[in-house]
Amino acid sequence: TPRVFSGIKPSGGLTLGNYLGAIKRFVQTQDAATHETIYCVADLHAITVWQDPKELHAATREVAAAFLASGIDPERSVLFNQSQVSQHAELAWIFNCVTRLGWMNRMTQFKEKAGKNAEAQSLGLYAYPSLMAADILLYHATHVPVGEDQKQHVELTRDIAAKFNHDYKVDLFPLPEPVIEGPAMRVMNLRDGTRKMSKSGESDMERINLTDDADTILRKFQKARTDPAPLPETVEGLQGRPEARNLVEIYAALAGIAPAEVLARHPGAGWGTFKPALAELAVETLSPVSREMARLMADPAEIDRLLARGAERARAIAAPVLSRTYEVVGLLRG
Ligand code: ATP
Ligand code: MG
Repeated sequence: TPRVFSGIKPSGGLTLGNYLGAIKRFVQTQDAATHETIYCVADLHAITVWQDPKELHAATREVAAAFLASGIDPERSVLFNQSQVSQHAELAWIFNCVTRLGWMNRMTQFKEKAGKNAEAQSLGLYAYPSLMAADILLYHATHVPVGEDQKQHVELTRDIAAKFNHDYKVDLFPLPEPVIEGPAMRVMNLRDGTRKMSKSGESDMERINLTDDADTILRKFQKARTDPAPLPETVEGLQGRPEARNLVEIYAALAGIAPAEVLARHPGAGWGTFKPALAELAVETLSPVSREMARLMADPAEIDRLLARGAERARAIAAPVLSRTYEVVGLLRG
């Protein structure tokens, strides 16, 4: 069976970008039942930048709660926390020895995250895509639903798989496909339409958090940067208007309709009417999720139990793949 793998870092509170670009689609894929679905809370990825140890526990449970509250069923999907399946780190080391420095040097996300200060970043942040390749290939995943920002990393995963297979003359790792479909695959920052919305972004006003209340969501959309012109008649009219495009695409993704349909339903609307309509739609979608998240977070032991059970199921798939990899590489096993 085709297998889907994806993950989210517990590097802060989840955003509307994570919801539309990742979680919502993870649930749809699970419910379509056409693929086996494996989802992970990527805590080893989170620590590539500093995380307060106490907050990391809470953030890990929060990402798990967001998955569950959005409709991930821990029976139908495998849901686990990355560091509880040691094979991820072990396979990543093998891939560190396969990946070329030149490939890593081309990763745009590292450049964006490092900014002007690349020398001061952790080696882990630089090597991140190699761990991500291990996450995916450990399960022989064939499809990886991600937002636009992760496309390059999934392509690198294909390169790593191909080089491993070629160097060791095996057909061990299938080449996974990135799955990037629908509107809002790159939700932009509300204060700067040229940068993506991120949970680790500087200002809380630039993102909508899953846990924001109705007033906060309305205030953030109302303060969202836009140009003064009203909505255009057609999607062509969104060209060169990144902030306007972003809000229209968010609306489209939330409503499950095409951007053209959003414009048809709000002909020539000004921001004074469109922004509150968008906020209302976002609240309608997110409030049941945040309410359920709060309920789940009140019982951390239950979340831990579900994650431990998920890790067991993940290990059952991952352990034989890692053993086979060690064997192919020629590592002596007792
Ligand atoms: P960080 O700032 O710590 O990198 P993040 O918000 O980018 O956090 P990740 O954990 O890196 O979140 O990514 C989890 C998933 O969410 C990935 O599939 C990623 O492509 C997707 N994603 C992240 N941001 C967006 C966005 N703005 N629009 C659409 N998808 C997104
Ligand atoms: Mg990210």
